[in-house]
Amino acid sequence: MIIVMKFGGTAVDSPDKVRHVARLIQSFQKQGNEIVCVVSAVRGMTDGLMAIADSVKRGDRMSIEEFVKKSLKIHTDIINGAISDTKLKQSALVDLQKTIGELKDILGGIILLGEVTPKSLDYLMSFGERLSVPMVAYALRDIGTDSEYLTGKEVGIVTDSNFGEARPLMDTTKLRVNHKLSPITKRGAVPVITGFIGADQHGNTTTIGRGGSDYTATIVAASIGANEVWLWSDVDGLMTADPKIVKNAQVLKEVSFSEAMEMALFGAKYMHPRALEPVIDTKIPIRIRNTFNANHSGTVITQNPSRDSQKIVKSISAIRHTALIDVSGGGMVGAPGTAAKIFDTLAKNKVNIMMISQSPSESSISMVLRKSDLDKAITTLELNLLGKVIKQVNVNDDVAVIAVVGSGMRGIKGVAAKVFGAVANRNINVIMIAQGSSELNLAFVVNDRDCESAVNALHDEFGLGKIYSN
Ligand code: ASP
Ligand code: MG
Repeated sequence: MIIVMKFGGTAVDSPDKVRHVARLIQSFQKQGNEIVCVVSAVRGMTDGLMAIADSVKRGDRMSIEEFVKKSLKIHTDIINGAISDTKLKQSALVDLQKTIGELKDILGGIILLGEVTPKSLDYLMSFGERLSVPMVAYALRDIGTDSEYLTGKEVGIVTDSNFGEARPLMDTTKLRVNHKLSPITKRGAVPVITGFIGADQHGNTTTIGRGGSDYTATIVAASIGANEVWLWSDVDGLMTADPKIVKNAQVLKEVSFSEAMEMALFGAKYMHPRALEPVIDTKIPIRIRNTFNANHSGTVITQNPSRDSQKIVKSISAIRHTALIDVSGGGMVGAPGTAAKIFDTLAKNKVNIMMISQSPSESSISMVLRKSDLDKAITTLELNLLGKVIKQVNVNDDVAVIAVVGSGMRGIKGVAAKVFGAVANRNINVIMIAQGSSELNLAFVVNDRDCESAVNALHDEFGLGKIYSN
C-alpha cells in the first residue's frame, strides 16, 4: 500500500516523540508499505511566528532576537535527544543553523521595511515546518531508514498567489510531485515533506491556511494516487461528541466524506476543512489515528461507509461562545437586495458569518458570528445601515451553535421532532434553527449556558453512547 502519513505539531515536540514517530513510520514501511510523510511545525512554532510578525511591525528587535534564540534551542534540544549517531547529529545541527540563519535574515529584512506583506508573512510562516522536517528525516536515518526532507515548494505543490489561504493548482501539482517523489520512493527512502507550504507559479512561498498540513497530506496523496491517507494526531478519531462534554462519547469507526466535511466545519478540530477536497474525487480513504495509541484503528473517512451507514445521526457537535445578531425592520419586507446589502457590508469589513436564518415574513434576519467579530459587526451595521434598511439590532453575546450531523437524516421523517423534543424536555430554549437542504446537518442555537445539557440530551436521544454495542 502507498500511505501518506501526516504528523501534527504535538507529535514532534520532544526527542522521545520524534523517535517514536520515526519508529512508527519504519514499522509500517517494514510491513511492505510505501510511506510518504508530511510533518507540521513543532507545537507552538506557527503561533510564535504569527506573534513575531507583529513584533516586526512594532520594530521590536528584542523579541525577535529572543524568538530566534528560543527556536534554535527548541530544535537543538530535540535533535540532540532524538539522534544518536554523531555524524547524523552534526549534519542535522548544521542544517538547523542554516535555516535559523535564513530566518534571522528575513526578520532583519522585514524589520527594516517596517511592514509585513502577505507575501513575506507566508515566507516567514514557512519556517515552522522547515525547521521540523529535518528532525524527522534524520531520526529515520538514525534508525536505519533512508529518508529525504523537502519543502512543499521543492516537492512541487503549486498554488495560486492567495497568500495565507492559497489553493493548489492540482494538475500542475500532480505532474511535479510525481516527478519529484518517484525516484525517492523507488530507492526505498521515505520523503518527509513540510505541511502547510506550497509556492505560486513565480516561486513565491505560499501557505494554505492554518492547520494546513492535513491538506498537504491529501494534496500529495491525490497527486501520487496513494491508497490511504493517515492523519496521525493526539485523538483516537472523530467522535460522536466532545468527550469533555459527553462522558460516554464514542470514537466513530466510519464516516462518509460529506459527514466528515460537516464535522470539520462544525468545529471538530481534527481536520482542515478543505483537506477532503483533493481526495473526494479520487476516493482515497482517510484514516484518523492516534500517535500515542497506535493500536487503535481510528476513524476511516470514505466515500461509502459500509458499517453504521444506517445510523441516522453520527455526531453532535457544538461551536461554543459565539454571538448572535438579529437585525429587523419593517423596511426589510419585500425589499429585494436587503440581505445582500447587509452581508455585503459585513463582508467588506471582513466579518465572517457562520450561520444565517431569515423569517418568511422577511422582517428579521438572524446571524451567528464569532465573538471576536462582534464589535466590528455592530459598528459596521450602525455606521452603514441602521436607521436606513434596518430599524433595530439585537445582540445575544454568548450563544452556542449545536449541530446534529449524519447522512442518514436525509429524507427521514421525524428527526427534527426528535431533536427539538429532546431539547425541550430539558427545558432549553431554542433561539434559531437552520437546516441545509442537503439534510446532512441540522443546526440550532441555544444560550451557551444550555450547551452541555443540550448536547447530552441529543447524544442520549440518538443512543450515540452505545452505537457499537449491537
Ligand atoms: N503549522 C501550521 C499551523 O499550525 C500547519 C499545521 O499545523 O497543520 O497552522
Ligand atoms: Mg499545527
